Amino acid sequence: MARDVQKIVLRGADDHDLTKLAEYEALGGYKALAKARAMTPEQVTDELITSELRGRGGAFFPTGRKWSFVPPKDKLPKPHYLVVNADESEPGSFKDNEIMARVPHRFIEGCLITAHAIDSEHVFVYIRGEYSGPYEILVGALEELRNRTDIRGDVTIVVHRGAGAYICGEETALMESLEGRRGNPRIKPPFPAVSGVFGMPTTINNVETLIAAAPILLNGAEWYKKMSLSSPKSTGTKLYSVCGNVQRPGTYEVVMGFPFKEFLYDLCGGPLHGRKFKAVIPGGASVPIQNMEEAEATLMDYEGFVAGGSMLGSGGVIVIDDAQPMVTVIARLARFFAHESCGQCTQCREGTAWTTKILERIRDGEGTVEDLDTLLDIGEQMTGKTICVLSDSCAVPVVSGIKKFRGEFEALIQGKRFHPVTAAVA
Ligand code: SF4
Repeated sequence: MARDVQKIVLRGADDHDLTKLAEYEALGGYKALAKARAMTPEQVTDELITSELRGRGGAFFPTGRKWSFVPPKDKLPKPHYLVVNADESEPGSFKDNEIMARVPHRFIEGCLITAHAIDSEHVFVYIRGEYSGPYEILVGALEELRNRTDIRGDVTIVVHRGAGAYICGEETALMESLEGRRGNPRIKPPFPAVSGVFGMPTTINNVETLIAAAPILLNGAEWYKKMSLSSPKSTGTKLYSVCGNVQRPGTYEVVMGFPFKEFLYDLCGGPLHGRKFKAVIPGGASVPIQNMEEAEATLMDYEGFVAGGSMLGSGGVIVIDDAQPMVTVIARLARFFAHESCGQCTQCREGTAWTTKILERIRDGEGTVEDLDTLLDIGEQMTGKTICVLSDSCAVPVVSGIKKFRGEFEALIQGKRFHPVTAAVA
């Protein structure tokens, strides 16, 4: 039987309609904001640093430290901007969708607390264009605050819809897009804290990161830090979106350090009838694939996923069972990245295209023995050499997939076929 799961981000959302301001306030909503505004921006930032909250968008940078990078206005007398990255486009990831759709006021409260901490009066929420439902709910929640200057203060929140490009989830591409240009990633430096959107000092955070600010401020950093079953460096809870070949796909919130085996088999209900789990991509499409031996030994936090041969990434858990040919799965991921490459870097533009071509050749039974070494070589050339990490993101699942499931690739090259019914290569 699954253990009780403590919720922070989604607290109350199962029993109340927290898209409504009245219900959110009845549950203590916006009290954390009042508490934060009674503190100095430095005190708020220090509380976040003490909580050891790390960014939930995939980079895991300490949130309080990121806020502290924005120079104070007496040193850099320009407007400070807060940009929220809600362009959730990683395959397998949909937890920010759930946050904005179910607890929009807690999210807005997190934005307003952050705006106070970095001394900003301008917040841009860059939301994925396809998220029309969460967009409407978020705009509706902001509309409820139109006459509540006690909550809004002097802060203006603009919700900006993207146009469907995965690359706009990369923070500098997002800023380009927000400024009205094609969403091509920028070379860094300059870093956003000094010269970000419209050339102004900017803090960019993910939706799930900011929403943690309210409970941390309300209950204190020490309370938040205690919420972990494993590494003291991984604090609080984490949301995971689960999809693929599993009984109960959906969004789950669990404390850091939760056993991945218990998560997959108890909370998510285990494999479909008559099937076995074969592999998991635990952090969206751009992290290494885990075989089940690795996955079942993993504790769900930043360090735990690395120790288990992968990364936490965006928390988009893609479950693959024994009826899925691994070559087909990986070829589909590669095609996605090839389609989404902005084309500025040769390694990425050519690498993603050639990787896709070769994988699809192997999938169609026309591969050669040399193809596997060629793929590994291309993967190496695509890693760590480009403006942003989309190139690496394509190479990572390909390289890890070949290393961990090489037998399936070789069988196809030798003319054998994968049989989904028996889940065997023959
Ligand atoms: Fe564009 Fe790919 Fe280079 Fe990123 S790595 S800037 S997506 S070409």
